[in-house]
Amino acid sequence: MTRWESLLAVQAHDTHIDQLTHRADTLPQRAELATNREAVAALEARAAVVENRRGELSRSQQRLEDEVATLNERIGQADKRLYSGTVSNPRELQALQDDIASLRRRIGGLEDEELEIMELTEPVEAQTSELAAEREALAAETARIQAALAEAEGAVGAELAAARAGRDEAAAGVPDDLWAEYDRLRSHLGGVAIARLVGPTCQGCHLALPAVEVDRIKRLPADEPVHCEECGRLLVRD
Ligand SMILES: [Zn+2]
Repeated sequence: MTRWESLLAVQAHDTHIDQLTHRADTLPQRAELATNREAVAALEARAAVVENRRGELSRSQQRLEDEVATLNERIGQADKRLYSGTVSNPRELQALQDDIASLRRRIGGLEDEELEIMELTEPVEAQTSELAAEREALAAETARIQAALAEAEGAVGAELAAARAGRDEAAAGVPDDLWAEYDRLRSHLGGVAIARLVGPTCQGCHLALPAVEVDRIKRLPADEPVHCEECGRLLVRD
């Protein structure tokens, strides 16, 4: 095997490694995971709005309950005075009764408000439950995608390891002085530094060289480096 054949074998491995690396970087599960993350973020944004509303309603309800409790306390005190026997003035007794009646009316009004709040809370609670179910479904989806991604990464990782081992083996047959040019050409020519010349056609750029150029190449010593005049890649002759 000439050094050019050895280098071409390395190229085949490197091309394969590049493809596998690209596959690893663009596994469909990565896009799925990104979409899933967006869905989670959108859900949490909606949940924050609902939670905020739920908090507002809960605070309103608490405020009303506290107010009702305070009014009930005042009714209790008024009742006590009314039946304590310490108040005998009929006008004062009447005033106490009026007071109690007025407090009860206020409580009635507050209780109506409480009912309204409870009615408003119902759909918000329903939304909260729906969001919790959605969150759970999304979390299950995240776990499923992550497992699939790990599996796909494992598979492509194993292929990569095998390809790298093959590359190392092939690279052992390549003299050190070829690497600089190989690496330079690879970085400038889309990862392909060396290609076979099949008939008049460079397998790197797939262009046919002029017959006169093919003739010139054929007459060169087998070990002489040859470049495709179209793309500049190293050529391996049969
Ligand atoms: Zn070419």
